[in-house]
Amino acid sequence: MGLATVCEEARCPNIGECWAGGTATFMVMGEVCTRGCRFCAVKTGNPNGWLDHEEPDKLANVIRQASWEYVVLTSVDRDDLPDGGAAHFARCVTEIKKANPDIIVEVLIPDFQGEEAPLRVLLDSQPDVIAQNVETVERLTHPVRDRRAGYQQTLTLLQRIKTWQPDRFTKSSIMLGLGETDAEVRQCMADLRAHGVDILTLGQYLQPTPKHLPVIDFIPPQKFKEWQQVAGEEFGFLYCASGPLVRSSYRAGEFFIKGVIEARKAAGTQTPSSFTKETGHEQ
Ligand code: SF4
Repeated sequence: MGLATVCEEARCPNIGECWAGGTATFMVMGEVCTRGCRFCAVKTGNPNGWLDHEEPDKLANVIRQASWEYVVLTSVDRDDLPDGGAAHFARCVTEIKKANPDIIVEVLIPDFQGEEAPLRVLLDSQPDVIAQNVETVERLTHPVRDRRAGYQQTLTLLQRIKTWQPDRFTKSSIMLGLGETDAEVRQCMADLRAHGVDILTLGQYLQPTPKHLPVIDFIPPQKFKEWQQVAGEEFGFLYCASGPLVRSSYRAGEFFIKGVIEARKAAGTQTPSSFTKETGHEQ
């Protein structure tokens, strides 16, 4: 069939919980990334403009047959394509929504090298939740992420989404255990909130192969709980999933977001910030 789920490829420990709960994550635009982040196990190379033009229809059909209620689309970075793959990614969202009118679609998108035009194309397809990960604190962005990625570039992208489409939920992720300090994590949370980010996930970095960056610390589960509290109470994130096994796409978070979106639709309101952090119900 030629469709790749990140759940299987990354051997995610939460696969049973997510799939049984009606959520799946697909990686679109192939399995070869033009970038080489030093925490990531995805293959690096140059796909030379290759795209599976049937992918949007295939995805729409598979999702309809499986009756998933919440789908996450992620992708490799495609710096080899003039638009970074924005038009193709947008077609995937459009076709999925056309074939599955009640589905919630979350997208984890490339940074499009900071360009505005591809981001607008993607936003026109109306995904419900849009994520771009800072991945780590500002000081560690390089060496952790590819040189073409940037801490400020990601923040600017997230801010643009909120400015252009305030009713979209925005989301980002931080991996812990790469040598960051508590003060740096706090600063990162403050930066994300200052750029309008609604949802945060925090998880433990695990070294995929000996060639990747080593783990500096294993963060105790209790510390993750404390960060979850800090994110909600101190910084005002709408929702924070935080735990050693939490990944950017995570069932508990998606369940929460689904509740918020459905409540919003029922109430006919648009603004994410009008929901309580604790329950996801409209105030
Ligand atoms: S851009 Fe994304 S897929 Fe590509 S290497 Fe970095 S983290 Fe992995």
